[in-house]
Amino acid sequence: MDSLGWIDEEIEELKAASLFRDPAVIATASGPEVEIAGSSCVLACSNNYLGLAGDARLAKAAADAAADWGAGSGASPLVAGLTSLHRELEGELAKLKSAEDAVLFSSGYLANIGAIQSLAGPGDAVFSDELNHASIIDGCRLSRAEVRIWRHCDPGHLAELLAAGGFRRALVVTDAVFSMDGDVAPLGEICEVAGEHEAMVMVDEAHATGVLGPAGAGAVEHLGLVGQVPVVMGTLSKALGSAGGFIAGPRVLCAWLRNRARGLIYETAPVPAAVGAALEALRVVAEEPWRRERLTELRERVVAGIREAGFEVADGPAPIIPVIVGGSQDAMDLAAALRRQGVFAPAIRPPTVPEGTARIRLTLMATHTDHHAGMIVAAFGAAAAR
Ligand SMILES: *Cc1c(COP(=O)(O)O)cnc(C)c1O
Repeated sequence: MDSLGWIDEEIEELKAASLFRDPAVIATASGPEVEIAGSSCVLACSNNYLGLAGDARLAKAAADAAADWGAGSGASPLVAGLTSLHRELEGELAKLKSAEDAVLFSSGYLANIGAIQSLAGPGDAVFSDELNHASIIDGCRLSRAEVRIWRHCDPGHLAELLAAGGFRRALVVTDAVFSMDGDVAPLGEICEVAGEHEAMVMVDEAHATGVLGPAGAGAVEHLGLVGQVPVVMGTLSKALGSAGGFIAGPRVLCAWLRNRARGLIYETAPVPAAVGAALEALRVVAEEPWRRERLTELRERVVAGIREAGFEVADGPAPIIPVIVGGSQDAMDLAAALRRQGVFAPAIRPPTVPEGTARIRLTLMATHTDHHAGMIVAAFGAAAAR
């Protein structure tokens, strides 16, 4: 029992540094409004951008898939095969991304780890933006390739690092939309620089799939680069309202991943319910472009309102609004003030974001009403007035 005594001390240190975390317990389905500790509040921090996680059509598709295909998948696809339902989803994801094929993983985290590890190894170099998601960082570490970090969204710096050479093969990897800042990577320049060195390019579209681009295909589509990024990662768990991750790309890439990605080979295939829900989500993404338009409209309104309340916020095409306050305690105080006004958006602190950049990371949902947007803005106004 006392062998775990050291954890108490570590936790006390976290608490003293305002870095201790304890997930809020939500008493309702994920939606624009949720109930926490007996009171209703506007949920302004979910990645359920299109509002599909609680959509009745997805819930029904999940239930139908479970009824038809069972509750579990039983084994890794390499052991027990892949159902035609899983294969159908891979085909639809490939279509969304205008790719030859796609490979399904149980999560976006596993997709990133699996792909990076399959594409780079000892003797190779992985080039990674300094603000890339933790799953990319972990994939880089597991690959045992040399990792070279370029300054955030700075293709010039990437070019310098690539020019230094000293590797067998190079993999360039970046978030498309940065999860904590909402900015979009300069993918055109990155592809150009990588092309000069025959480096592979991999883009993480976790926050862009379903959200950006005329068809909701992501940042690659938004920037007019369809067909120019060979390795595209996405997740089913954010805008698509389900669970799971995928890599879309050329047929050879997908065949290679099925043979090499440990996060696929040693992991049971995603459950049929998640696959069924994701297939339904793709139909909604195609048929209801109003959800993407609504996100833009809401973002413009909320950004303008928060700025008017005296906060400095960056603005971009993604529905992620970072309100950077600096210190962890200040961010927690602001989160508490928002909470008192009926808005739930917790403080994001190191190590999720760099030291000194603790923040409220506001995210919007297509199903937020005008009233919800007004409440979010009013909550910042009230917090500023204190
Ligand atoms: C959430 C996220 C992932 C992981 O996706 P999951 O499906 O939740 O495992 C990967 N990359 C980025 C940028 C993310 O934000």
